[in-house]
Amino acid sequence: MKRTPLLIIVSMILVLVTNSLFLLIKPEITLVLSLTVVSLGLALILAQQAMQEKKSVARLALEKQATEVKLQEQEGFFKTIFDYTHTGVAILQLDGTLLKINKALCEMLGYSEADLLGINFYQYIYSEDQEKLDAVLRQLIERKNKLYQAEQQCFQKNGDAIWIILRLSLVRDNQDKPVNFIVQIQNITLQKKAEERLRHMAYHDPLTGLANRNKLEQFISHILASARRHQQGFALLFLDLDSFKNINDTIGHDAGDLLLQVIAERLHNSVRSTDMVARLGGDEFVLVITDVKKTEVVALIAQKILDNILKAIMVTGQEIYITTSIGISLYPFDGQNMQTLMKNADLALYRAKEHGRNNYQFYTVEMTSRAREKMDLQNALAHALAKNEFFLHYQPKMELKTQRITGIEALLRWKNKEYGMTTPDEIISLAEETGLIIPVSAWILRTACKQLKQWHQMGFTSLTMAVNCSARQFKQGTFTEEVSQVMTQFDLPARALEIEITETLIMQDPENTLRVLYALKDLGVQIAIDDFGTGYWSLGNLRRLSVDKIKIDKSFIKQVIADETSAAITSAIIAMVNKLGIISIAEGVETKEQYHFLIREGCTEIQGYYITQPLSDEMMTAFLQHPLPVSETVT
Ligand code: C2E
Ligand code: CA
Ligand code: CA
Repeated sequence: MKRTPLLIIVSMILVLVTNSLFLLIKPEITLVLSLTVVSLGLALILAQQAMQEKKSVARLALEKQATEVKLQEQEGFFKTIFDYTHTGVAILQLDGTLLKINKALCEMLGYSEADLLGINFYQYIYSEDQEKLDAVLRQLIERKNKLYQAEQQCFQKNGDAIWIILRLSLVRDNQDKPVNFIVQIQNITLQKKAEERLRHMAYHDPLTGLANRNKLEQFISHILASARRHQQGFALLFLDLDSFKNINDTIGHDAGDLLLQVIAERLHNSVRSTDMVARLGGDEFVLVITDVKKTEVVALIAQKILDNILKAIMVTGQEIYITTSIGISLYPFDGQNMQTLMKNADLALYRAKEHGRNNYQFYTVEMTSRAREKMDLQNALAHALAKNEFFLHYQPKMELKTQRITGIEALLRWKNKEYGMTTPDEIISLAEETGLIIPVSAWILRTACKQLKQWHQMGFTSLTMAVNCSARQFKQGTFTEEVSQVMTQFDLPARALEIEITETLIMQDPENTLRVLYALKDLGVQIAIDDFGTGYWSLGNLRRLSVDKIKIDKSFIKQVIADETSAAITSAIIAMVNKLGIISIAEGVETKEQYHFLIREGCTEIQGYYITQPLSDEMMTAFLQHPLPVSETVT
């Protein structure tokens, strides 16, 4: 077609040229010739046009064919994507009927294509009812929403629930008329489970599966709100297993974990499903008893828990018995918020422990005033060292055979303006709690050794000095070093020092205590087991450790005349200890009868008011210089 104007121009030029030629030669035939040439030109033009049109039709046919193939290819391509994509895809009619479903969706739901085709989308997939679906579809059609997206659960053919993300969008044609809906569905069950596990971990104790502190806090704030609204009471029980650490150290930590799991289960079974059991860590548990109408009910539950825990627990083939102590606070009487309720339940727990364990105690207001007093006392104690309020009293030990004073025990005293003269039983445990015991004990060791050196210099060179030790000192790690330094500082032989420790102290942390004791023995320091007979340490250990001295607890000595059992135990201990080559010392000897009994039984040494009460350093010096014959002491 583009060449047509060119032909016309060529024909016109031909006509013009021939006309001009013939006008010069024969003008009459010019017209005829011109017409012929024009006709010929026109014919030529028409013929060429016809040919070109024929060619175009053929080309169009070819092009159409190619387009169709391309479309088919594309359709196949899209079908492949539709079928093989991992996302579930479905095409819906405008009323929500399923028109097409891909393989992934069928597999996801466990239905065949035939099961789903023709049914309405809300029936098997959409979690809500038809009305809701209609509203969603309408919003898309009315352009109020471009895309509907929701996380929901739906059920597979076999009844299993899965979590899905569902996306619904509308397809419009060239004229912008709604044609179909496209649904994309993704199975997010695994992701949901992982999220669920993470959430569980954030709110549960991994060992026992019980709630942890986070969950407990959440629960209490929730029930506080509801209890305030409905004026209901609830109880908070604070539990701490008795001597769990000892058991854990004895049976090993894995078995200890199993034990905690059994306890957790027993606690869980002791309360209703609306109550809460949480583990705060270690051997500490908290129970929340909801909807409490009577205090007696809480007391019954607490007793039930004590009884349940007391039953034997089989762990790795061993039968283990454990007890627990419980402190209880009640909402609304003992606190209006979690912090106060927890604090008061803890105070009550402390009282339960003091009461000899394996019991429960309700919080009382006096507990708070006692706690306050304790805090004041601790404050005063904290300044005692700097104010020089501590001093030592000394009590001698006498060898029965020779009636010689062999050694002296240093006993701590505290004199304060407000509190007067305080005995160590009260203050040692307080000082242990605050950590103050460390500097105080260092002071005791130094002062006692300094005093011993003075007595040695006065000529009492065979005297030994016994110093009581607390658990905290043993945990410190530098104790042996400290002892060694002090002995060097005062130029004393290591044998002149005796370290007194109780069986209870050893049992608290046997592994570490024994390590420190071995190190002290290596130094040459003597070891005495104090208050012997009140703990559970086996006699076999005495030999293994090569203990130097055993101090039979004064509770046995006190009863030795009046009570046959105490007499029998004392005799047995003396006999056994002597046999092991260990020095037996009876403490708390107050009377002549006790004194004679101990001589008869072959006890090595005695200590007690029968010889003298603990004395100040000056009085002790005087006593050493002029000891009274025992027969002359007042009984
Ligand atoms: P303990 O080591 O068993 O000390 C003996 C206790 O019995 C002393 O009480 C002493 O005064 C008392 N006593 C002595 N003779 C008799 C007697 O014939 N009859 C009676 N009924 N009691 C007698 P104290 O001085 O009140 O000490 C009590 C406990 O405090 C000591 O028991 C010891 O466990 C601890 N303690 C004392 N001083 C220290 C110290 O410097 N450091 C540490 N960690 N604990 C100490
Ligand atoms: Ca002692
Ligand atoms: Ca003692």
